[in-house]
Amino acid sequence: MAILEVKNLEVFYGVIQAIKGISFEVNPGEIIALIGANGAGKTTTLQTITGLIPSKAGQIIYEGQDITKIPGHKLVSMGIAHVPEGRRVFAGLTVLQNLYLGAYTRKDKKEMEDTLEMIYERFPRLKERRDQLSGTLSGGEQQMLAMGRALMSHPKLIVLDEPSMGLSPIYVNEIFDIIQKINQDDGVTVLLVEQNAKKALSIADRAYVLETGKIALSGDAQALMNDDSVKKAYLSE
Ligand code: ATP
Repeated sequence: MAILEVKNLEVFYGVIQAIKGISFEVNPGEIIALIGANGAGKTTTLQTITGLIPSKAGQIIYEGQDITKIPGHKLVSMGIAHVPEGRRVFAGLTVLQNLYLGAYTRKDKKEMEDTLEMIYERFPRLKERRDQLSGTLSGGEQQMLAMGRALMSHPKLIVLDEPSMGLSPIYVNEIFDIIQKINQDDGVTVLLVEQNAKKALSIADRAYVLETGKIALSGDAQALMNDDSVKKAYLSE
């Protein structure tokens, strides 16, 4: 059974239809990429799944349950964590304070401390800088913090919006290596939105190509990487 199923989803901003009936699924253990140009509807899709924007039609099913109308904070305790576009760390709080904020749904303090240790293993830099104000971190470190904060809720599904945005190539590689480790070693299912299609397809199992609110193409990431139309539209340097 799919961990997440999106069925005929439609989303509007006022009279403008941003999402025009898309359907896709994410199976447990997969890394799924949604790729597409600026304005294709990638962020809107993620924000609708994580309960930030209401849908007009369609269904979102998570672990067999209809979550279409469930608000975002409840979804976190159900195991869905969202790493938003632009990271959104709390600049005036320390790294550790930001991480603790991600754990607001946790009840068992010991388990939460174990998760924190796991996150410090994944992101040694966050451990080094745990008492530093988050606003003083580099973009790449802020991305790590946003991911660490999401992982503090011990999610089954992590939804990542443009993790590579604005980062230097070295950081991009580091962030994508960590995404793979979170998936392979920690067993977290990943739904990833990226404008950097090449990077996203290089770690994804499958991908969906969004064009003006519709799914234009889908398939194995490797096959899409070799597809001429994808190459031409999304992979040229
Ligand atoms: P980007 O990579 O730029 O974030 P995207 O693929 O994530 O692009 P969305 O941000 O989801 O695309 O935008 C989809 C469409 O909805 C675009 O046409 C955009 O202009 C429109 N849109 C997005 N947010 C709003 C909003 N708050 N109000 C009105 N229209 C919006």
